Amino acid sequence: MKIGVLALQGAVTEHIVSIGKTGAEGTPIKRVEQLGEVDGLIIPGGESTTIGKLMRKYGFIEAIREFAGGGKPVFGTCAGLIVLAKEIAGGEPSHLELMDITVARNAFGRQRESFECDLDVKGIEEPVRAVFIRAPLIEKVGPGVEVLSTYNGEIVTAREGNLLVSSFHPELTDDFRLHQYFADMVQATRTAEQ
Ligand code: GLN
Repeated sequence: MKIGVLALQGAVTEHIVSIGKTGAEGTPIKRVEQLGEVDGLIIPGGESTTIGKLMRKYGFIEAIREFAGGGKPVFGTCAGLIVLAKEIAGGEPSHLELMDITVARNAFGRQRESFECDLDVKGIEEPVRAVFIRAPLIEKVGPGVEVLSTYNGEIVTAREGNLLVSSFHPELTDDFRLHQYFADMVQATRTAEQ
């Protein structure tokens, strides 16, 4: 089973290492054609405006919409969450508009630009170690979206069908259980297709 990591900008290598720990193979995706070779896709953290710009430039907006529209799982972390959202608070232009959520960028304030905590995540038994870096939060979710975790009452992990998002960076710790959760989603899709 192969999982791609969109490699336009941001934390790519760390995701590939975490995917490896689940037993799947992680591979960087630099061109749209490579999407045909993977069963799932991770859009990493970084800077969402830059990732959005590069996605437009290299044809990834339509290609990822098709990939996800065909049922393949997509996991967005931090900036990756922002680019998947239907809406960005404050009227900023949105990017892929795939997931029925409204996100606020850099939502934890200056004093808390980055911090770590242990989070309860629905579907994962023990709390997950979460690293937040200039993180977004999910302000609003549509009816089809399941909230998987909150921090101080704010939504920071959610799922809508084959789409998974987290405000934090699961690839920056040794805890690969959220990657395992995603790999299980990818495996379930593969099994359903066979
Ligand atoms: N603050 C970044 C943005 O708005 C996201 C930060 C991250 O991915 N660590 O795009």
